[in-house]
Amino acid sequence: MRTVEVIVDVPAHQTNQTYDYLIQEGQRVEVGMRVHVPFGNRNVEGFVLGIKEDAQEADFKFALKPVYAVLDEEPVLTHELIELAKYMCEQTASFMINALQTILPAALKVGRKQAVKVKTQEMVVRVIDGVVQPKAKKQFEAVEFLLGQRLPYSATELRKQFSAPIVQSLLQKGAIVTEEQEVLRSVYNSSVYEEYVKQPLTAAQQVAFDAISAGRESGQAMLLHGVTGSGKTEVYMQQIEAVVASGKQAIVLVPEIALTPQMVQRFVGRFGEAVAVLHSRLSNGERFDQWRLIERGEVKIVVGTRSAIFAPLTDIGLIVIDEEHDSSYKQENMPAYDTREMALWRADFHHCSVIFSSATPSLETYARAQVDRYLYVGIHERIAGLMMPEVKVIDMREELHAKNLSMFSRDLLAAIRDRLDKKEQIILLFNRRGYATFVKCRECGYVVECPNCDISLTYHKTSNKLHCHYCEHQEPLPQTCPNCTSPYIKLFGQGTQRLTEALQQEFPDARILRMDRDTTSQKGSHQAIFDTFSNLEADILVGTQMIAKGLDFPNVTLVGVLAADQTLNFPDFRASERAFQLLTQVSGRAGRQRAGTAIIQTYMPDHYAIQFAAKHDYQGFYQEEMKIRKQHYYPPYCHVSSLKATAASAKEAYDLLFAIYQEFKDDEAIQIYKPVPALIARVNNQYTYQCLLKYKDKKHTLARLYDLQQKYYKHNKVSLSISV
Ligand code: ADP
Ligand code: ZN
Ligand code: ZN
Repeated sequence: MRTVEVIVDVPAHQTNQTYDYLIQEGQRVEVGMRVHVPFGNRNVEGFVLGIKEDAQEADFKFALKPVYAVLDEEPVLTHELIELAKYMCEQTASFMINALQTILPAALKVGRKQAVKVKTQEMVVRVIDGVVQPKAKKQFEAVEFLLGQRLPYSATELRKQFSAPIVQSLLQKGAIVTEEQEVLRSVYNSSVYEEYVKQPLTAAQQVAFDAISAGRESGQAMLLHGVTGSGKTEVYMQQIEAVVASGKQAIVLVPEIALTPQMVQRFVGRFGEAVAVLHSRLSNGERFDQWRLIERGEVKIVVGTRSAIFAPLTDIGLIVIDEEHDSSYKQENMPAYDTREMALWRADFHHCSVIFSSATPSLETYARAQVDRYLYVGIHERIAGLMMPEVKVIDMREELHAKNLSMFSRDLLAAIRDRLDKKEQIILLFNRRGYATFVKCRECGYVVECPNCDISLTYHKTSNKLHCHYCEHQEPLPQTCPNCTSPYIKLFGQGTQRLTEALQQEFPDARILRMDRDTTSQKGSHQAIFDTFSNLEADILVGTQMIAKGLDFPNVTLVGVLAADQTLNFPDFRASERAFQLLTQVSGRAGRQRAGTAIIQTYMPDHYAIQFAAKHDYQGFYQEEMKIRKQHYYPPYCHVSSLKATAASAKEAYDLLFAIYQEFKDDEAIQIYKPVPALIARVNNQYTYQCLLKYKDKKHTLARLYDLQQKYYKHNKVSLSISV
């Protein structure tokens, strides 16, 4: 008899174990397909992970139940993706079903209610000449037109061009034949992209290119470390060209949706239709179609954000992770996988290389390049001999002394005015969205907070209301203090929207664009803002950190950073590293074709992260930061994981973590800290506690963390999440 091993989707029954079912007469089933099976007294869906061709009844403890239905005609999972899911489970202490669901697009997951439909369209598939006489002028024209087109031709288009009644007559006369045909939703229109011309490499780029070619021969992972504007993209694009020419495929990952328009433009502009795009803003249908396009082998290059690493390519020749240091490559929720690890695994499977590209590599990656685990490839000068931007650090305390209470230092204002006069562009980074960060009473100090979360509310001018950024809560702006009834309740703090207004007041004629989460909530809005700015239809781009990375606007000669300390003050051992990266990246947006300047406003001008960023000194920063990491025993000197427990009562959350703490504290291989409230301890009336683990032995710890998951996932009051 034939049986299948199935991993089922039963939230209350998590395990990495498969269950056996009997294949029935006439069922065609393969590994990687989805099936409907009985489980307890229910029907559930699951993935087939194995098939036993000649199983014996004696092999099983119980009488096997049958597979009710096979849901696919073709497997949705390749052998490789199943193995990758297993690896993901090990790396994140997660369950197999969750790993598989994470890898697949919504349309191919199991247990989903809304099915994603295959889109069809009526297409003209045949045109029969001679049926329509020339005297039926319009109809004749339509036939003539179709004879000059490549079939199938969209019937909808034809109706638009020649009217519906004309097409109807053609159909009735039998002059054309139409058919419903499947169409794949496209996510870009390749004809609107200008060609992105291949550039002859500079000497420095050529050296890097050759080093990468050599590294690729042996399938080595590499760090491509080049200052901002050194032309790293061109180098790896030409590598990809070579990969595609050899018949293989490539994946290019970008950290954030904000960067995809530019990357898509460059790749489609050079490689045309061979490019698929996968990112979180696609609809389920679009994502499904991109996935199928890739699966059918019609795509050579996949460009996308984090989850594009799971693209079902079958013959990968190169994986590029652009801005590899970016924190978005780490998934926050379980399975909390690290895209860089997934990339290394797939590269190993395909015997190809991964290129980690960055101007500011993460400490972990740079440290690996130092000990030759990654091949180090450096480009240390900008394209066309351009200088690095000059960076001025402005001490905002001195502005206060000079009685300048505005958000802008005098130097920054002067520089903006100068660039506006010269018709050059400006980027201003302000790491805070919204209008004002909070509402505070001047008399009693009361700050209006969300009733559900431990977080102050933010005023949004567009709605004229206070919003919570963590839950849905909104409320009107209070007229008097809810605490002491004083009328002196005021908006404090500043956000991108407020900044934009203040800027407009200073420079009434300037055309200002804003890019933050509020202005980019709609599909295509990143692209629109990007296009407007690069077509020189705006003078100043104001934005949150999403404008800091990678973007290449040749006409920008001034970059201003308004609250450089924001990132530094964040309670995280990576805070200095993040601040250094952000400042280096954003200054790097200046002067990509002419000399540029960056102005950093800060209250901590002497902080080493700011000082090294101002000097473009990655090495210096690395040395200093490594000393601190070593001293305090933080990565890359060890691994860290965090455990989070969330519950409706703080006590329950704490108790669970404390029990775990007791369990782990005698393990000599693991250093565990006592549970503490999470940074925002209450969100939507759910309380979160967390505790930190440090360890060197990854395998041992991961195994223990997996056991922990097994033991506590069923805890019905507290949810436990692990981030490795
Ligand atoms: P990076 O990613 O290293 O910051 P980019 O790849 O964005 O740099 O390149 C910076 C600019 O230099 C881009 O506008 C790019 O088109 C241009 N560029 C890259 N390589 C060359 C080259 N070999 N010759 C001329 N221009 C180049
Ligand atoms: Zn008050
Ligand atoms: Zn809230």
